[in-house]
Amino acid sequence: MSFDREVGQPGKSVTLPAQDIPVSHEADVVVVGGGASGIGAAIAAAMNGASVLLVEQRGYLGGMGTVSLVPAFCPFTDKEKPIVRGIGMALMERMKQACNADYRSEYKDTLDWVPIDPETLKRVYDDALGEHGVRTLFHSFVYDVLKSADGRRIEGIVVVNKTGRSAIRARYVIDATGDADIAALAGVPFQKGGEEGELQPGSMCYLLANVDRARFRRYLDETGDSGQLHATVERAIAEGALPEGRKSISGLAWVNDYLVGVNFGHVFGIDGTKAEDLTRGAIEGRRLVERQLLFFQTYVPGFEHAHLVASGEQVGIRETRRIQGDYVLTAEDFMNARSFPDDIARNAYYIDIHLANSKGKMTFTHLEPGQSHGVPYRVLLPVGIDNLWVPGRAASSDRAVQGSLRVMPNCFAMGQASGTAAALAMREGTGSRGIRVPELRRLLVEQGAWLGEQAAASASSASSAAE
Ligand SMILES: Cc1cc2nc3c(=O)[nH]c(=O)nc-3n(C[C@H](O)[C@H](O)[C@H](O)COP(=O)(O)OP(=O)(O)OC[C@H]3O[C@@H](n4cnc5c(N)ncnc54)[C@H](O)[C@@H]3O)c2cc1C
Repeated sequence: MSFDREVGQPGKSVTLPAQDIPVSHEADVVVVGGGASGIGAAIAAAMNGASVLLVEQRGYLGGMGTVSLVPAFCPFTDKEKPIVRGIGMALMERMKQACNADYRSEYKDTLDWVPIDPETLKRVYDDALGEHGVRTLFHSFVYDVLKSADGRRIEGIVVVNKTGRSAIRARYVIDATGDADIAALAGVPFQKGGEEGELQPGSMCYLLANVDRARFRRYLDETGDSGQLHATVERAIAEGALPEGRKSISGLAWVNDYLVGVNFGHVFGIDGTKAEDLTRGAIEGRRLVERQLLFFQTYVPGFEHAHLVASGEQVGIRETRRIQGDYVLTAEDFMNARSFPDDIARNAYYIDIHLANSKGKMTFTHLEPGQSHGVPYRVLLPVGIDNLWVPGRAASSDRAVQGSLRVMPNCFAMGQASGTAAALAMREGTGSRGIRVPELRRLLVEQGAWLGEQAAASASSASSAAE
């Protein structure tokens, strides 16, 4: 089975011989992908009694937040109160505690745009999964699925790694690959990008050390330039020091006074489901970073001695596949701050669609402070398969809402809901659609998620009635 039959040279193919492969692992719930959605899913499923195996192609957890050095967590609040709580927020708080005293004192009360210290975060994730008894298999790429005779269940996945090829059997599968790899392999219909196949660009994020934050702040005070350096970047583009495109820095996330994470500029035309495109993204991305480093050193006081410590292992990918789910969340739902009876999370992050080419425009659509919309359970359920959930970047939504739903706090929340649902399905002996959704919502609230005031109130009255 291949992800994409268009790949390769027309008319050229080889036939592989049939082969017996060993079953290397078995679990109640297999989670594929160790980003925010996979981490949330694995912990939630284990917390609710399932044996869980998480399979990840890299040697560490964190997905875009560590693989691609995305420098900060997007807001956990609706600008008035925290609305993404539960496992995601607990992990972010744990990362703060694991950072040094300066970091803790600066960010202890911050819930929005908390800078990521990637090496600390990797360890926090390792520990959290280990404490919940989640087994982890790193350096393993999932390239096929085993389906039941009627095609409605995934009975296992097929991985390749240094040990060889093997099958992993599972009762339930959570596709947290961000690209819906498992759903696509299982034949779930999906959409990719816009109507003409255009995709949001990738970005190569990186870490700069040996910077002087105090001097940088003085520069901003003296010149009145914004924290995203609009004026300085425009000047550098006009002088040919930077290429056309994004006219400001998307994000500078200060881990401390001398180390900053950078999200700046774009690499266009990269389809993150194609190795050839990812290769070009890596090479072009690193080339752009080199040019940006020179820009920082020559244009931005405080960065004269900046040293490039690391760039992403992979160019950061904002969008690829969006599965067709039982419900497709739309921009209208977002704009109307709509709630659903089967909400499993709430989202307030703005619609943030990056330009598809260097002449394009960015789209930002905000909700009012204090407003959020619901994320229904059905967006996690791919049509045609009864034991698979797809949380995270590839959940079922239109393109506009994907531009909002895709950020890490939401991915944690959708992951937590998927893992909890999988454990519930196991307990009740049902498929993904057979679980009692009110019970899922009750468990989520009991385990720290926030589904709105009403859900919180009914959970607390249910628990006092039980006492
Ligand atoms: C440049 C950029 C800037 C961003 N800025 C922010 C920001 O500031 N704050 C924020 O909160 N969000 C931001 N985002 C969005 C956010 O980082 C991602 O959308 C989010 O991490 C998606 O989470 P996920 O768990 O769905 O997927 P991912 O984080 O992509 O994780 C998927 C994991 O699955 C693994 N995997 C994939 N396929 C396979 C396979 N076949 N077999 C085995 N393993 C596999 C991958 O290695 C990866 O670890 C940004 C994204 C980008 C690209």
